Amino acid sequence: MAKKPAPTKKAGKTAKYVYFFGNGKADGNRSLKDTLGGKGAGLAEMTNAGLPVPPGFTISTDVCSLYYKQKGKIPASVDAQIAENIRKLEQAAGATLGSTGNPLLVSVRSGAKFSMPGMMDTILNLGLNDKAVEGLKARTSNGRFAYDSYRRFMQMFGSVVLGIPKDAFEHEFESVKNAKGATLDTDLDEVALREVVQRFKQVVRGRAGRDFPQEPHEQLTMARDAVFRSWMNPRAQEYRRIYDIPDHIGTAVNVQMMVFGNTGDRSATGVGFTRNPATGAKEFYGEFLINAQGEDVVAGIRTPQPISELAKVLPKAYKQLRDITTRLERNYKDVQDFEFTIQDERLFMLQTRNGKRTGYAAVIIATDFVAERLITPKEAILQIDPESLSQLLAPGFDQKEWRAIPVATKGLPASPGAASGHVVFSAEDAVKWSDAGKPVILVRRETVPDDIRGMFVAQGVLTATGGMTSHAAVVGRQMGKPSIVGASALDIDEEGKSFSVDGKTVKEGDFISFDGLTGEVKLARVASKPSEILQVLQGGLEPKKSDIYRRFMQILAWTDKYRRMGVRANADQPDQAELAYAFGARGIGLCRTEHMFFGEGRIPIVQRMILADNEKDRRAALDELLPMQREDFYGVFKAMKGEPVTIRTIDPPLHEFLPKREELMVEIARLEARSHGTEELEAKLRLLRRVEQLHEFNPMLGHRGVRLGITYPEITEMQTRAILEAACRLAKEGLKVTPEIMIPLVGHVKELRDQSAVVNRVAEAVMKEQGIKVKYLVGTMIEVPRGAMTADEIAGEAEFFSFGTNDLTQMTFGFSRDDVGKFLRVYQDKKILDKDPFATFDVDGVGPVLRTGVELGRRTKPDLKIGVCGEHGGDPSSIHFFEKVGLDYVSCSPYRVPVARLAAAQAALAVKVGD
Ligand code: PEP
Ligand code: MG
Repeated sequence: MAKKPAPTKKAGKTAKYVYFFGNGKADGNRSLKDTLGGKGAGLAEMTNAGLPVPPGFTISTDVCSLYYKQKGKIPASVDAQIAENIRKLEQAAGATLGSTGNPLLVSVRSGAKFSMPGMMDTILNLGLNDKAVEGLKARTSNGRFAYDSYRRFMQMFGSVVLGIPKDAFEHEFESVKNAKGATLDTDLDEVALREVVQRFKQVVRGRAGRDFPQEPHEQLTMARDAVFRSWMNPRAQEYRRIYDIPDHIGTAVNVQMMVFGNTGDRSATGVGFTRNPATGAKEFYGEFLINAQGEDVVAGIRTPQPISELAKVLPKAYKQLRDITTRLERNYKDVQDFEFTIQDERLFMLQTRNGKRTGYAAVIIATDFVAERLITPKEAILQIDPESLSQLLAPGFDQKEWRAIPVATKGLPASPGAASGHVVFSAEDAVKWSDAGKPVILVRRETVPDDIRGMFVAQGVLTATGGMTSHAAVVGRQMGKPSIVGASALDIDEEGKSFSVDGKTVKEGDFISFDGLTGEVKLARVASKPSEILQVLQGGLEPKKSDIYRRFMQILAWTDKYRRMGVRANADQPDQAELAYAFGARGIGLCRTEHMFFGEGRIPIVQRMILADNEKDRRAALDELLPMQREDFYGVFKAMKGEPVTIRTIDPPLHEFLPKREELMVEIARLEARSHGTEELEAKLRLLRRVEQLHEFNPMLGHRGVRLGITYPEITEMQTRAILEAACRLAKEGLKVTPEIMIPLVGHVKELRDQSAVVNRVAEAVMKEQGIKVKYLVGTMIEVPRGAMTADEIAGEAEFFSFGTNDLTQMTFGFSRDDVGKFLRVYQDKKILDKDPFATFDVDGVGPVLRTGVELGRRTKPDLKIGVCGEHGGDPSSIHFFEKVGLDYVSCSPYRVPVARLAAAQAALAVKVGD
């Protein structure tokens, strides 16, 4: 708890900490969510709208901050405001706390700005004591009800406020039930419940070393503090970490007159949604219990009835509930998630808030709302969480079946989607098994570029190491392949083809399944099915047969009206480019040419190029690669229909294309054992020598990127030739083509100058040979901090910039992007970092480096085109920052393009209003 501004004070006035609602008027309204929390703001809004809301007051989130700042002490001025609001509440309710004649009972509930269902604590029936329980009995003429309410209160207060284990109460309750021969709780009569109350008092005395507090004001103070304490309980903290909710915002406390759904058969309690939150269907959706209190619905002891049944048993209240919730939906212009209680046929609203929904439902609901003229397309765009769109593209499991299987382990959710298949431990085995028609999951300690074919054929990829920008994660997302990385509990024996986890051993061929959206891995077979939208885009389903496809595309079309930044894709295969285009990418922001080196039959040629110890041999190998690369580029250009295509010259260290040293040594030992002096052995020994020569201690900081082009200019020459020859061919065919040649890892202007000279020389020569001119650009990636800090000089040589935020993050933090998985979780647990900086751009630390790069670059060239092609290009909160600094486009994997289009539109709208 830190860093929260104090509430504003008007001159001479103490700040307002407590907000009343009741009798048709509230101090607050829905715009005060920061102060009142979601629940408090909703109660205020409903009260102002004249809806039947039991009166009460909200103690603001600022008091929660004070509670933590002052180590559990609340200032007297706050207590005074609470006391005054209790008086007001007593007046509105016509009842008094602790009174024997007409006791006021209240609920005390948490309520933060963002809903955190079930994470914090609630206390009901507060105000009951030995006298008030008699008052309640007299007023309701129902002793059973009164004593049942008392024992429930003691139980809740005892466990939540006094910290007594729930079991201690359950134990006494069960023994009274046994003694009376009761099977159901409701079988206990007043006498038995009085006995329970006596026993509970003993439990409190024995466990808490004090009597159960009888004074209602003391009860209230203790309950309030317990709710504040529950803000920092471990499950609430974990929830906030997962959903990115800051710790400092705190919770409000709502104190509200109790109404009872458990006074008999004319009473009920329930929860519901104005539309189905899973499917988005326009239907009144929810459940209720007759003669029950709120927690019974959630606790799952009794099975609630569907809300449609309420129309039959309590028709008047049902009709009123439908009218009210329809009004609320119109008022909030969003699906409402509500709670209600019916006490003796009288309806009370206890909560309303915008309902959480699946990505699928979000799309259906937003498009329906626009059709119903409830919202405009612009409002629809703002209503959908961009991230949730990726759910619509990923293959899915049958959720019921999935939930029934225990989780074996969890890793980082690198690429969404459901995957199920036989376990294999190498790329070759993945290809072999899938050629035999078997679905596979490729399980590796880590993946290397060489695994790409295995990854391609697998249903999913699971690794034990790596972070969100490790090879497996980046490639997985680009392919739209479900992937989990950094599942460090997996103990993998790749040689022995098995892994163990959770005390079990899984061998090659065994079935496993995982969900790339949550990171959960399970040791069983679960059927999955491809997304409907993808079926349409890949031609398997007609667009007019898919309602969700049409709505999805409609939303994306709306985003384009509000978007300032362009959206491109990171793609290096024509089919990826086509898909990206279909998703609305207008250009390629990063084509990683080295991925093309792993295509069918190319690796031996690439290895020959690397093994060459003279330029002549190297050129010979490059000449063989040239036509292949030319074909690749031709295909990608064509798929992009004239939109700009940024092609990056070779980037990774060369040893990535060679076998691992250890593997070679094993093979050599085997060959030596069998024979001596064979050609094969000689070749392997040569390879080993070269591998050892190329060995680097820090390959990511080693001989890679522009450094390769500078030391082996013939590689840049070949790649430029391939690009320009493909471009000239398209131009001759009368098609538009816009190549952008990008030099990676530049930190010094002279590096770029060297490579631009090579590119321009070869490009001129090719165009002369071909007898046609093509407009092309030469630019650079800014991914080394020195590049950003000297961007004014570099911009003198560059026609465009593209920020490689993966490497920029790696080099600014000094965290290896491939090893961060080993310690990131600890960093997050210890709150050193909130988020993974490789997934969500670090605005505070890497942000200024990027901003400097933009400012310096545009100082030299005011119109310099600047984009981003690191993984952050597809992350909504990072996109918000890129909008703020004025980038021209973001580039991300094809499957993230819809997310990026929506996020870019939202960012543009937010930045316009100054957020
Ligand atoms: C980057 O560093 O952000 C980038 C896009 O390049 P790569 O991930 O290929 O290093
Ligand atoms: Mg990079």
